[in-house]
Amino acid sequence: MTIYSYSRVNTYFTCPAQFEFRYILKTPPPVAEGIELFLGSRFHECMEYLYQQIPERVPTVNELLNYFKNHWDHKWQEALKKQQDRGFPTPIRIVHEGQTLEDYYEKGQLFVENYYHKYQPFDQDQTQGIEMKVLFNLDSDGQYKMQGFIDRLGKDSEGTFWIHDYKTSSRRMSEEDAKYEDQLALYQIGLSQNPKIGSSAKVKLAWHFVAFDKDLVVSERNAKEVEWLKKKYVLKIQEIEKAKTFPVKPSRLCGWCEYLSLCDGGKAYLESKGKKFTRPEEIAPVPAVIAAQEGVLPVKNADSALLAPPVPTPLFGHSLSKIRRKNQKLVSAPDQLSLF
Ligand code: SF4
Repeated sequence: MTIYSYSRVNTYFTCPAQFEFRYILKTPPPVAEGIELFLGSRFHECMEYLYQQIPERVPTVNELLNYFKNHWDHKWQEALKKQQDRGFPTPIRIVHEGQTLEDYYEKGQLFVENYYHKYQPFDQDQTQGIEMKVLFNLDSDGQYKMQGFIDRLGKDSEGTFWIHDYKTSSRRMSEEDAKYEDQLALYQIGLSQNPKIGSSAKVKLAWHFVAFDKDLVVSERNAKEVEWLKKKYVLKIQEIEKAKTFPVKPSRLCGWCEYLSLCDGGKAYLESKGKKFTRPEEIAPVPAVIAAQEGVLPVKNADSALLAPPVPTPLFGHSLSKIRRKNQKLVSAPDQLSLF
């Protein structure tokens, strides 16, 4: 039996061909990891470290920034090795023109520092789990199962459980979009099936868009909505399991697809839109699903999300150079930045 994840299900509906590449053929992407995912992983590691320490002590902000730097350095070395082993043209893909690795590093520092100052002494709730796996049934027979990982589960003084999710993207989901975002609501199903928590527990879904001053977006699902969500995902999985063919579903998202260089349909679509297809070494696409996970594209409907209204100004807008100067006093850039 296949245990589905939110990403696996939604990749199919974004583009069946991409689903086939990734989950059926298990085709290794011909390009390196995108910088957005790299940065997001480093931020998540920092949060993991921070909340692991909290019951005993509160680390200083410089300790946390050093942690970020050390992990960034270490993972960069791993990316270089992967590039060598797998023949990627670059160790990391960078999407946005004019942005450098150093820019992303500095953003990461800023996100860590900003989060720290906003939430210290980190007593809004008590951590119940970090990177906590949830495995749950969508139906009473246990025929349809899903799993996922909660970035952090907290419990506040009123007994409410908070499913926290950290997003480092430069797009912030609106409160309205949060009502339709399924990923954390699916994890709520997982909690309801946990005998230590149960279905009567009060649960809040919390996204932290750490690139924004007002980072927190909160939503809730009632029992009826949770039941409806289970049915919705059973139907989605049934449709996937019935599929015999996996046609291309070209869209503007092809520009972010890690399989673009292998996909004639995607290339033809982009060319028809006047976008010259460039070789993998010349582009830095973000996979659509990862982009959705990271909040680069809204998760309920990535296509329509491209037309979404402007969102609040990220922290690293006009004041970045000022912040850079401030950050440079706190932590020096890693050595590898001089390679770029
Ligand atoms: S390039 Fe576009 S059409 Fe091709 S697999 Fe990727 S998303 Fe699908």
